[in-house]
Parts: sequence; C-alpha cells; structure tokens
Amino acid sequence: MIAAMKTDVDILIAGGGLNGPTLALALADAGLSVAVVDPRPADARASDDFDGRAYALAVASQRLLKALGLWSGLADKSQPILQVKASQGLPGQGAAPFFLHFDSAEIEEGPVGFMLEDRFLYRALLDAMSGRVTHMPGIAVTGHHVEASHVTVDLSDGRQMTARALIGADGRNSSVAQRAGIKRQGWDYGQTALVAAIDHAEPHHGIAQQYFMATGPLAILPLPGNRSSVVWSETNDNARAIAALDDDEFLKVLRPRFGDYLGAISLAGARFSYPLSLSLAETYAAPRIALVGAPPMACIRWLVRA
Ligand SMILES: Cc1cc2nc3c(=O)[nH]c(=O)nc-3n(C[C@H](O)[C@H](O)[C@H](O)COP(=O)(O)OP(=O)(O)OC[C@H]3O[C@@H](n4cnc5c(N)ncnc54)[C@H](O)[C@@H]3O)c2cc1C
Repeated sequence: MIAAMKTDVDILIAGGGLNGPTLALALADAGLSVAVVDPRPADARASDDFDGRAYALAVASQRLLKALGLWSGLADKSQPILQVKASQGLPGQGAAPFFLHFDSAEIEEGPVGFMLEDRFLYRALLDAMSGRVTHMPGIAVTGHHVEASHVTVDLSDGRQMTARALIGADGRNSSVAQRAGIKRQGWDYGQTALVAAIDHAEPHHGIAQQYFMATGPLAILPLPGNRSSVVWSETNDNARAIAALDDDEFLKVLRPRFGDYLGAISLAGARFSYPLSLSLAETYAAPRIALVGAPPMACIRWLVRA
C-alpha cells in the first residue's frame, strides 16, 4: 500500500488549446484540483475581431459544452448546420448533380452540428477556467518523472509541480507522449488545407457543402450571416502556390471551384494553411499519464466525418 502524497494539484494538464481547458473544466466540476500549463501568453487570441478560424462542432461536442455550462453563452454566436451535402466537384463546374444529403429535419436531435468561430470558443473556455482551474500561461512543461504515488512535472520557469496525474493535451507533437515512450503511427496525406472565411451575397440556409475534387476536398461551412468558412485541401505543391497568391488572385482560383450558388464572394479575415497528416498514438495512457485531444487522433480527415 503506497501512502498518498499531498500533491500541488490532483491533475496537471500540459496544453491549453481546446482540449486541455475542456477536460480541465470537466475535472474541476468533478471536484478535482486542476492546473493547465501552456506556453502561449495570456493574451493569445485575445482579439475580438474575427480572424478567419472556425470549428465545425459535432453534436457530441456541443453537448459537452452544454454540460460544462458554456453553451448558453455560445449558442447565439453559433450557426446550426441544418444540412450537409457531399458531392463530386469539378473545377469550373461546381458540384455534380448527384450528392449525399444529410438533413437535420430527418433526425430528432436537431442540427447536424454547429459552426463556431475560434475567437468565441477559445475565449469562453479561458473565461470559464477563471476561478475553477489554475491557468498557467506563458509556461511549458519540459519534463516529468513518474513516482509510485504521483508525478513530478518540470516547468520552463524552473519550478516543479507535483500532481496525481499528468495529462498530455499538448497537440499532435505531444512531448508528454514522447517522454512517456508512447509511439505513434500515421502518414502524411501530401495535402495542405487552405482555410479562409468568405462573405457571400446570397444566404447559405445553414447548408454545409463538401466537394470531393481530384486534388482534395473543398468544404464550405456556414457561419452566422452571409459568411462561410472554407477549408480547401490541395496537394502540397498546389497549396503552396495558391497560398502565395494575393487575395484577389486567391479568389480567382477559388471561384470556379466554389461555384456561384452563393452569389458574389469576397474574403473575410486572414487565410491559413495547415499541412494534413494522420497521427495515431498507440496507446492513450501510461502510468500516471493520459493523452487527450490531438495526440490520439490528429489531423485529420475531419471534413469527411463532419
Ligand atoms: C484545417 C483544420 C481544420 C479543423 N477543423 C476542425 C473542426 O471544424 N472541428 C473540429 O472539431 N476539429 C477541427 N480540427 C481539429 C482541431 O483543430 C484539433 O483537433 C484541435 O485543435 C486539437 O486541440 P488540442 O487542444 O488537442 O491541441 P492544440 O490545439 O494543438 O493545442 C495544443 C496546445 O498545447 C500547447 N503545448 C505544446 N507544447 C506544450 C508543452 N510542452 N507544455 C505545455 N503546453 C504545450 C500548445 O501551446 C497548444 O496551445 C481542424 C484541424 C485543422 C488542421
């Protein structure tokens, strides 16, 4: 029998992206003391302006936010996805006439999912942690040592903290996983996702479109108002060339793929590029260590599953 040591916190979470704070809130609600450590500064992503990043939330994720008491403050900022249409897309021709159609009218639980901008979701998580979770921005986890009754965690500011367990929510290159000897399997898709928000003249009626093009899928996901989030996957070479274009040229290349069903389009916010790869951790747990979020299943053919 090992005597329980008094630790600084019950659970220390490395990573304050989306998954770290979400888990921290759930654990705090369950009565555990939790600290979230993340090298991002406290004012990261603090701007009120839309920067072009948004998430498609599955209904399970929306329910989780509801259970944590966050959804009531987010609902009116979200856009319900009422229908999803998936079809073959051909440049210059838009969507093919035959498509898979998922309609929320056919299910009892309401929308198929929700679109929510990063600025609202991320800030809501940070705000909710205040008073419930010890948030330690500007600090990285640099090492850990597993003992019989606890784990000692090294921090980049030279301090050490003890916890009953360490959670790696530190993204797809999780150093917690690496140090715990957790291997991963995966491969590069050879594709990069170009992400941007697009304003359009016509309403989207809550319909998410997914065109499967020869060089990768193009998703057009409804945001509040006459605005959509575009996630456009291309081969790495194509994506590099398209990302280097100025905004006008970018729109010229996008328009024939996007089609004209939403009328005239223009850019809203910045453009982003994300290389796509599959990365699966071989296990989610090691003694006094667990992984959540991106480490077990990183980027992502998420569009196919949205
Ligand atoms: C183009 C694209 C579109 C996507 N769209 C969607 C979508 O619509 N819906 C959806 O559900 N998912 C989507 N995803 C996936 C989603 O973005 C990720 O699954 C999610 O962001 C992962 O969150 P996370 O908190 O696990 O990791 P991350 O967001 O990667 O956060 C990891 C955090 O760990 C911190 N960190 C790193 N090292 C350390 C350390 N040593 N110590 C402490 N902290 C550390 C980092 O600073 C970072 O804040 C998309 C992904 C891509 C690439």
